[in-house]
Amino acid sequence: MEHPENDEKYAGLAVNKGIEQPPIVNPYLKRKPRRRLLSAAEYVEGILKGDITVLGQAVTLVESRNPDHQAVAQEVIEKCLPYAGKSVRIGITGVPGAGKSTSIDVFGLHVLKKGGRLAVLAIDPSSERSNGSILGDKTRMEKLSVHPDAFIRPSPSAGSLGGVARKTRETIVLCEAAGFDKIFVETVGVGQSETAVHSMVDFFLLIQLAGTGDELQGIKRGIMEMADGIVINKADGDNVDRAHLAQAQFRSALHLFPLPPSGWTPEVLTYSGYYEIGIAEVWDMIDRYFEFVRKNGYFDEKRRQQEKYWMYETINEHLKANFYNNDTIREMLAAKQQLVLSAKQSSFMAAADVLKFYFDNKG
Ligand code: GDP
Repeated sequence: MEHPENDEKYAGLAVNKGIEQPPIVNPYLKRKPRRRLLSAAEYVEGILKGDITVLGQAVTLVESRNPDHQAVAQEVIEKCLPYAGKSVRIGITGVPGAGKSTSIDVFGLHVLKKGGRLAVLAIDPSSERSNGSILGDKTRMEKLSVHPDAFIRPSPSAGSLGGVARKTRETIVLCEAAGFDKIFVETVGVGQSETAVHSMVDFFLLIQLAGTGDELQGIKRGIMEMADGIVINKADGDNVDRAHLAQAQFRSALHLFPLPPSGWTPEVLTYSGYYEIGIAEVWDMIDRYFEFVRKNGYFDEKRRQQEKYWMYETINEHLKANFYNNDTIREMLAAKQQLVLSAKQSSFMAAADVLKFYFDNKG
């Protein structure tokens, strides 16, 4: 039997006349004028006045990948440099959950009690690989984030560790020129980011937790060697004894390391960020460090070494970008990669070919 739907009169198959589609763009919507990019001189003027809004905009410019923004950003940084450098820079690291945000909130309020201004920056290159940052973008420092003398900036998003770190290094210059005399640089205690932070701060604070007695195992030797102070957080409630045990273990572990070039023996303290116990003691230790290295000249020496480090870092980064962003090189690399993967050419020969092409066509 013929299917009823095949009958011409079957209503379900009738094509209804449509109605006119509304326009995609709402004709009543007033276009918001784009914010005008300030000139380099205007940024500098705003920064030197301590204007946090202008500072924030300038940092956005530093973080931008747009070459026009970068050109202005570099000019702003250059002009701010003579006003920078007059701050204490403190790196703070610890594994996720160690209590960095909680602690920075209370440490921050503590140092601001004596006046001055505090900038909290972060380095978290994890967003590139995991598409989500470990430190997170939400405001985690509740009290500091509403403090008029604090400027909190999350990590520049995505990019190589070198790139993210350089942007943070440049942001420090802008913050200092804007009158921030205390800079915290926070990073997660995983991977390579500690080295980057270490290369831009005067004091490196490692936040640790008391664990099950074998906590020292998980800590990379390199990180302990970088620390100027180790603080064991969550020394509260029934965790106090374990915190003290960890303190003793860290102290004896530190004895195995040679004295750092600063001449300062790293101290190990316990505290509770959440219950605000031992905060002043942690800060007294940091103050003692600064007094010590200012007196023996290490403070200036370290900063000079860091300048040298950043000169090479910047050169390396620009060279790499110039190479890898070259379209012909990209094509060559894609082809060479296939040859290497299928064992048709050795990695060394493939690299030599690409490099030869690059240098032959450079000058
Ligand atoms: P972060 O991932 O290192 O930034 O760590 P958070 O500051 O977010 O802290 C992780 C968790 O530990 C949160 O639930 C905090 O409330 C808790 N915490 C932080 N500091 C302390 C502390 O001193 N004592 C106790 N008992 N808990 C804390």
